[in-house]
Amino acid sequence: MYGARGLFRGPSLLRITLWHLVVLLLFTSILSLIINVLLTRSSYAETDGVLTSLTAAITDILRSGLSESGLDELAARDAVRELRFEGYTLAIYDDYGNLLAERPARSNAVQLSDLPPADGKTHIVSVRSPNERTTQRVAKARIHLEPVGRSYVIVASRSFDSPLRALAARRRVILTYVPLAVLLAALASFYLMRATFAPALKMSQQALRMSASDLAARFPVTRSNGELNQLAANFNGLLERLDTSFESQRRFMADASHELRTPLSVIGTTTAVMLETTTSSADDLRDALRIIRQEGNRLRRVVEDMFYLAQADSGTPILRNAWLQLDEVLLETVRSVGQLARAKQVRIHFESFEEAKVFGDEDLLRRVFVNLLANAVKYSSQGGLITVGLDRHDDSGQYRVRIANDGDEIAPADRDRIFDRFYRVLDGNTGATEAGLTGGAGLGLAIARSIAELHGGHLKLESSGEKGSVFVCLLPIPK
Ligand code: ADP
Repeated sequence: MYGARGLFRGPSLLRITLWHLVVLLLFTSILSLIINVLLTRSSYAETDGVLTSLTAAITDILRSGLSESGLDELAARDAVRELRFEGYTLAIYDDYGNLLAERPARSNAVQLSDLPPADGKTHIVSVRSPNERTTQRVAKARIHLEPVGRSYVIVASRSFDSPLRALAARRRVILTYVPLAVLLAALASFYLMRATFAPALKMSQQALRMSASDLAARFPVTRSNGELNQLAANFNGLLERLDTSFESQRRFMADASHELRTPLSVIGTTTAVMLETTTSSADDLRDALRIIRQEGNRLRRVVEDMFYLAQADSGTPILRNAWLQLDEVLLETVRSVGQLARAKQVRIHFESFEEAKVFGDEDLLRRVFVNLLANAVKYSSQGGLITVGLDRHDDSGQYRVRIANDGDEIAPADRDRIFDRFYRVLDGNTGATEAGLTGGAGLGLAIARSIAELHGGHLKLESSGEKGSVFVCLLPIPK
């Protein structure tokens, strides 16, 4: 399935194992090579050390023998006889290559084919037998001895077969067991990795089976396997957030379609009735058209609100920020709801009003105040009072817009939920219809809060009780 090169890019477990194998092989090869060199050196050093000591000892003995007798053959024989070392061959030659003495006798162990340089040092070489079967380590030293004023060649040698055999045996061990160990290590790491990654593979298969419509499943989180557990927990957190988000999207869609369906069916029914009734008067037709226009406006508002929320949710920048006077925007909005308020005999009273300069989107901020004030009119009692305030809180660095209306209390259970999209408190006793206000879609507060937050502020219900409700919008004072 995979070519030689493809294997290194193939399935990750196999690929990691192969890389592991390659790296291990590289390191163990370098290590084996170093061990081999050290072992070889130490075996040579051991034999060569003895050979060097032997040639030095022979030189000393020969020197003292010669100074006693002056006869080199006699002195040479004494010298080789005195040093008895099992396995070592000793020989002394004169400067012309004539053998003076050797041990063991007539061993002829070493042919003096060439004379070493006359530097008095010991030169050690390996000499292989003509049939290549045996190897000797041969130390030669050409020394000049003063008592007789002649030069001699001292040769000490030793068979190097057994150290070489030992070295070869060690090399065989290295060459056999190290690759085997590496292979076993790679196999073990493959199985270990497979066992380690098994939960991850399971997770990925489970993830494949998941779909947007079924996000309830969670990845198993066990006590072992720290990092993967963390991953599973993180994925579960992500799924939780996705699930919540999909759920709210679903709810939003259901609420939105419900919200759109009502005006559409009113329009549909009204037009159907008008078309079927042949005897309709001009007033009837005008009434029908008024209903259609009203429902059309309602549809437009819902669609605009939904469009705003969709934009805010998608993170698309929707702010057209500029410097503006918040107090002026608030004042204009109060004026614009004046007619609605008058229709319900509601008075609007300013409790405080300061100058406030902010950097923001004027249209959107106006929308916040329109929503709050329209609600205040809608939900205040007939002939009630709305109190509006704008002040500056230097301590918290915020402007505070406070809109209070008398009227029914918002039940504690609803106080958070009224900011949810499409949430409305089902209570017909609002007086909204009497004031000519159509019931909203329950998007007003959600949008107002979203706008306040987009400007770095907040919108909250400060209090609600028998005396009515107080909404507060906070916006940051620019630095
Ligand atoms: P709606 O379009 O229904 O007004 P909102 O999101 O503006 O939607 O308000 C949600 C709910 O909060 C309303 O249905 C109403 O019950 C409650 N509410 C909002 N403003 C006020 C207020 N000033 N006084 C009392 N209740 C309010």
